[in-house]
Amino acid sequence: MKTLKIAIQKSGRLNEKSVEILKNCGLSFENYKSSLISKVGNFPLEILFLRDDDIPEYVQDGIADLGIVGENIIIETNAKVSYLQKLGFGKCSLKIAIKNTCDINEIKELEGKAIATSYPVILSRYLKANNITAQIRNISGSVEIGPGLGLSDAIFDIVSTGSTLKNNGLKPFVSVMDSEAVLISTQGMELNAEVLELVKRIQSVLRAKATKYVVLNVEKKNLQRIVDLLPGVKSPTIVPLFEEEWVAVHSVIPEEDFWQKINALKAAGAQGIVVMPIEKIIA
Ligand code: ATP
Ligand code: ZN
Repeated sequence: MKTLKIAIQKSGRLNEKSVEILKNCGLSFENYKSSLISKVGNFPLEILFLRDDDIPEYVQDGIADLGIVGENIIIETNAKVSYLQKLGFGKCSLKIAIKNTCDINEIKELEGKAIATSYPVILSRYLKANNITAQIRNISGSVEIGPGLGLSDAIFDIVSTGSTLKNNGLKPFVSVMDSEAVLISTQGMELNAEVLELVKRIQSVLRAKATKYVVLNVEKKNLQRIVDLLPGVKSPTIVPLFEEEWVAVHSVIPEEDFWQKINALKAAGAQGIVVMPIEKIIA
């Protein structure tokens, strides 16, 4: 059996969550800060720790079979890889930002402006799609200081909270793309049996993360109201209690409207609500 290789970021914003998702799949491996490669004990897999910028190309060329990296880097490097699964972390937006004092309102007013960025490929595609000719100043870091130094009129960069922009006298102008971490493979590897097994395990972890296991007690007379509130995978499990008029209800509820749901359940007569994390949901 071939040992697969998966490339993940060595250190930085995606490292911790990438390691976590692999560990939550039940893979056992050492994760020393110094290691460049780590062998998984209970699956035919080796983990390569790389700079995120190098991951798409390693996967494209088959040096690694799989990779976890931001979509922004895949597009920027123009790598030909297969997308297997969005992973729900490393979320960010790439935006064009302008000086607070700049009063342009439409995208076409970027015509002829100088824009500093470390994402020249994504930016030039966007400008081309909008028929704008601007000067792209390719710099590798701290692009936010560009306008203050007179290097550029605008910047194009990852914006999360916007506080870095604010601190540098900038404001967001237009959002160009949203990105999150994704699992990719070398083209053609997506049907490999071990790759499919790993994708299945990752999906079971993602599904579990998006839900909580809830147990509650309710008087039988209120049971229907409770059941109506629960989004059953099938229907909830109802367990009799020693006190005859009462039952326990077991169910899985989505994380996204969790508190709203809990409050509605309480209002409908639920008592002794216990919430538990779910480790995996096998499809
Ligand atoms: P490396 O040393 O691996 O090259 P880096 O400094 O280029 O790391 P990080 O800052 O760790 O990269 O960001 C890695 C990825 O995390 C980004 O490409 C992006 O997909 C994602 N990301 C999510 N939120 C942010 C954010 N607020 N700022 C920067 N990147 C973010
Ligand atoms: Zn990088």
